[in-house]
Amino acid sequence: MSQDSSPGRIEVITGPMFSGKSEELIRRLKRAQIARRCVLCFRPDLNLSSYRTSIASHGAQTINAYVVANTGELKEALLPVIQDVDVIGIDDAQFFDASLVRLVIELTHMGKRVLISGLDTTFAGEPFPPIPDLLAVADEVVKLSAVCMLCGAPAVHTQRLGPSQSLVLVGTEGAYEARCRLCFQPYHGEHEPEQLEMQGLGVRS
Ligand code: ADP
Ligand code: MG
Ligand code: ZN
Repeated sequence: MSQDSSPGRIEVITGPMFSGKSEELIRRLKRAQIARRCVLCFRPDLNLSSYRTSIASHGAQTINAYVVANTGELKEALLPVIQDVDVIGIDDAQFFDASLVRLVIELTHMGKRVLISGLDTTFAGEPFPPIPDLLAVADEVVKLSAVCMLCGAPAVHTQRLGPSQSLVLVGTEGAYEARCRLCFQPYHGEHEPEQLEMQGLGVRS
């Protein structure tokens, strides 16, 4: 069933790794399928051979998905069938380029519901493009937290474990864990000047 007369909708699900973004995306997409909407899903190609045809969560939920290299490939796969598609799901959107934002807005102009999941920040704690721009244009933003692996508090950060500083390191078991604001160490043990200032203010124990 096509919804071309509706204004379309952008829903962005964000937060750190392990916060349940993929689970929530899959839950929403499966509900759309139950409602007999035509759902098409995409994920970036991260050279993970085991996930090549699906979106997968750490909790083992999956939904079939096209694996695409970039926004151009996503558009190429989608446009020939766009008339029949009601709902579009995109996982790990932080690995797409900035042109994804324009494409998503174009899709809403065609009456589509677009569900996007992606990391809000990098392992350095910086905004992870193009997610901030997607948050700005979204109809609905869902910010999820994980559980801090050191203290159990709500975790808003993704901690890189080990020495590599490459922005894109995926599929490496144990390379990341969720951390709360206090336990997060973006620069591997070195104190950030900002943290030291906060210590002086008695904010950090
Ligand atoms: P995301 O897509 O945000 O990385 P997923 O949806 O793939 O998250 O996985 C969420 C699941 O990960 C949780 O339901 C839980 O089973 C598992 N998990 C593993 N480590 C953590 C953690 N530190 N905090 C919360 N959930 C965790
Ligand atoms: Mg995920
Ligand atoms: Zn903590």
